[in-house]
Amino acid sequence: MLRRHFLAASALPLLGCQMPSADTAHITGGFTDTGFARGHRLRDTPAWPVPAVTRRTRVLIAGGGVAGLAAARSLRLRGVEDFALLELEDNPGGNSRAGEVAGIACPQGAHYLPLPGDDAPEVQDLLEEFGLRQRQAGRWVYDERHLCHSPQERLFFNDAWQDGLLPMQDVDASTLTQYHRFASLVDKARHREIWTIPRQKSPWTQAKQALAAITFVAYLDANGLTDPQLRWYLDYCCKDDYGAGIATVSAWAGIHYFASRHGFHVPGSEAAEREGLLTWPEGNAWLTRRMAQPLKERLHTGQVVLRVEEVARGVVVESFNTATQQVERWQAERAVVALPIFVAARVVQKAPEFLVAAARRMVYAPWLVANIHIKAPLHDRPGPAPSWDNVLYGASGLGYVDAMHQSLRPVPGPTVLTHYRALGDMAGSRMDGRKFLLERPWAAWREEIVAELAAAHPDLPAKATHMDITRYGHAMAVPVPNSQGEIGFSPSWSGRKQLSKKKQSSLQAGRLHFAHSDWAGYSVFEEAFTLGHLAGRDAA
Ligand SMILES: Cc1cc2nc3c(=O)[nH]c(=O)nc-3n(C[C@H](O)[C@H](O)[C@H](O)COP(=O)(O)OP(=O)(O)OC[C@H]3O[C@@H](n4cnc5c(N)ncnc54)[C@H](O)[C@@H]3O)c2cc1C
Repeated sequence: MLRRHFLAASALPLLGCQMPSADTAHITGGFTDTGFARGHRLRDTPAWPVPAVTRRTRVLIAGGGVAGLAAARSLRLRGVEDFALLELEDNPGGNSRAGEVAGIACPQGAHYLPLPGDDAPEVQDLLEEFGLRQRQAGRWVYDERHLCHSPQERLFFNDAWQDGLLPMQDVDASTLTQYHRFASLVDKARHREIWTIPRQKSPWTQAKQALAAITFVAYLDANGLTDPQLRWYLDYCCKDDYGAGIATVSAWAGIHYFASRHGFHVPGSEAAEREGLLTWPEGNAWLTRRMAQPLKERLHTGQVVLRVEEVARGVVVESFNTATQQVERWQAERAVVALPIFVAARVVQKAPEFLVAAARRMVYAPWLVANIHIKAPLHDRPGPAPSWDNVLYGASGLGYVDAMHQSLRPVPGPTVLTHYRALGDMAGSRMDGRKFLLERPWAAWREEIVAELAAAHPDLPAKATHMDITRYGHAMAVPVPNSQGEIGFSPSWSGRKQLSKKKQSSLQAGRLHFAHSDWAGYSVFEEAFTLGHLAGRDAA
């Protein structure tokens, strides 16, 4: 199966009946995020002091997520060592950061990378550099230690665990028929069109544009795909990759999810195959830490970029240093703006038209990540053994991954379970997801999350000792439908003119190069990395 994690708002009442009220008062913890406060300061401060220092560098990178770090690596690959990277948080990595609970490493955001296909040679290259991918006897092989160990994933469905995430246990013939019908629709789409990750490596056609203009749920309706199990699974997949479900994302996004990977396969069918993936206790921070490591003094954390302006002979960037509480000025020849689009539109002076248009259209999914320390192994319900990814059918959260799954310890012991919640379906609803995330007290989340997981693990409330929660207000771009059928940088945007000059060039306006997964219209490592890599190459 493919991407994993879900939120089935429609099924909330169902789970509500199962939720035992748990005693959680002994579970310590709190919020770990600093981004909200620093980001809001950027938004709410009417006037900043004049810069206390001025520095010079050849290329200034604003933002130290995957895209910014990829741009830095790309500059180094081209021999440009004179650059600086400014990052708002105290650590680089953005959505691919990690933390530790009770001495156990765990992701605070992204937790896995599917094995990249040949459409992502830049990512393949990175994995080779880190020794994860090697040529052996004419074949590419991946380091077994970092491939997700078996068992990979399981679903808590009808009061028992089942292997894989597509509901199969006791489903009736009509459900299976609908699974096969959806599989054949994905197959047809794959034969008619080219689907790639990163998406800019395949042409944007009229057929894709038509899919991008409607919701995925409208597409399912139009094709008579109404089965609740199928819809739950598709909803889960969309929430996992896009932070919002089938009623919010476009049909392009729903099809792209499967067509750009291995298709949609019903277990037991001939073509069924499980996607290989890389994962680490600390999630994708394993990658971002290694990308950041060679930057040394060129990495400046705790720096809130306030202003980016192209001037006569270069670029001026101003940032607020959270340690010294001073504003600092940078003069550079070029800048890579590896910031989310809503931030870029705020800080870039005389913003190009394509940036203004993108910021206006952008819909963001808020996310929450809870890392829960468990002092002893959990009792299990019938079915397959504890897996790396453990999902609860019909829950409003996204199940959990086990941070100790890759460990080779002979006997299970304490661990950290990383639980995910995507709140993208609340965007535009009466209850604003971002406000809800920001205002809801930590203890309310603690109670809700523990009660939800206790449906599958009744002993979890007693064994949980600590819960750290990381919140992301604007975690990722949601590929919502729009009447023009556009997502990310689309052909009709003015910025696209620059894109088409050179094959696969970065999105550029004068001396500014834009790189962030937002520009792909959805957020995965491969998109962020490739955009950052191209921006660094063009800024070198
Ligand atoms: C909870 C969660 C789970 C995910 N899981 C996966 C997964 O398992 N696999 C996967 O492939 N993808 C996953 N993703 C998607 C993830 O977003 C991408 O993989 C990738 O990390 C995005 O990188 P980016 O550089 O495009 O964006 P970001 O991570 O948003 O990086 C932008 C950076 O800019 C910084 N910044 C913002 N404003 C300023 C400012 N004013 N000044 C200075 N710096 C600033 C931010 O702090 C951040 O570091 C997940 C995302 C979330 C939120």
